[in-house]
Amino acid sequence: MEPRHAARAPHHPPEAVDRTDEQLAQHMCLIAHKIMVLSGKGGVGKSTVAANLAVSLAAAGRRTGLLDIDIHGPSIPKLLGLEGALLPGPAEMLLPISFNENLKVMSIGFLLPDDREAVIWRGPMKHKLIKQFLAQVEWGELDYLVVDSPPGTGDEPLSIAQLVHGTDGAVVVTTPQEVALSDVRKCVTFCHRVGLPVIGVIENMSGLVCPECGARIALFKEGGGEALAREMGVPFLGKIPLDPRIVEAGYAGKPDLAHGVGGETARAFRRVVEHILKGDGGAPAPEGTAARDTKGGSR
Ligand code: ADP
Repeated sequence: MEPRHAARAPHHPPEAVDRTDEQLAQHMCLIAHKIMVLSGKGGVGKSTVAANLAVSLAAAGRRTGLLDIDIHGPSIPKLLGLEGALLPGPAEMLLPISFNENLKVMSIGFLLPDDREAVIWRGPMKHKLIKQFLAQVEWGELDYLVVDSPPGTGDEPLSIAQLVHGTDGAVVVTTPQEVALSDVRKCVTFCHRVGLPVIGVIENMSGLVCPECGARIALFKEGGGEALAREMGVPFLGKIPLDPRIVEAGYAGKPDLAHGVGGETARAFRRVVEHILKGDGGAPAPEGTAARDTKGGSR
């Protein structure tokens, strides 16, 4: 006969219930429009476009969230001057940082230990991290969520496309050089495959604006992004020139290119924002008011 204690059920702690799916659904349904910013390769200005898009939507009076999910190179904290700004939130939840009255920001960069450390994670771990990250940020109600995705067509953009339901679509950023264009072709095909509508293609670093006289110099061959958009049957959102003020704005943590820098660069960004705003039937804020809104941030 078995000793009595052997018949007793082993004591297990109650199993933790995974509420991530539930939390994800709850939070995502409070957000009216979700826009992914994608690129075929790194360094083409994807984060710059994402930051500017979010700042401009907020300046146009839309309650906006900017989510940086670029595990290997989160640059939104730097672009918005928010490094080291994360505050502890309620249990399990992460509170986004307010850049200004209308713009909340969350970056995976806030959670990584050290920006000199390389993050080495395999596909399933990245998927889990992205899912938790999407589910556990307390955005509240938003008009727009702009997601800065990692470059390429690998695990992370796929995770985001699968996890964020009801997405308006993707803004795809490229530069005019052929090497970037062949990657962006893959990116558009990726969107079609995963059922992500393409809002449009932006050709960034398209020509150079002379800092002295403001004239435009065709540094690389221009127009490749536009031709590619036509070839692939997706909208073209415009060309943004190479402009040293974009780099300065990034270092200063004040990306407000639609209003702040003036000239051709500002016009190009405004056209992109107007195109996006047409999607919610609203008009952008008048020029000038928007620029003021973004400068007096409540950080
Ligand atoms: P990605 O997110 O695609 O890796 P980033 O947005 O981080 O690219 O931009 C890479 C670098 O290029 C940054 O230093 C940024 O300031 C600069 N940059 C982006 N777009 C422009 C532009 N139109 N003119 C000048 N510099 C730019």
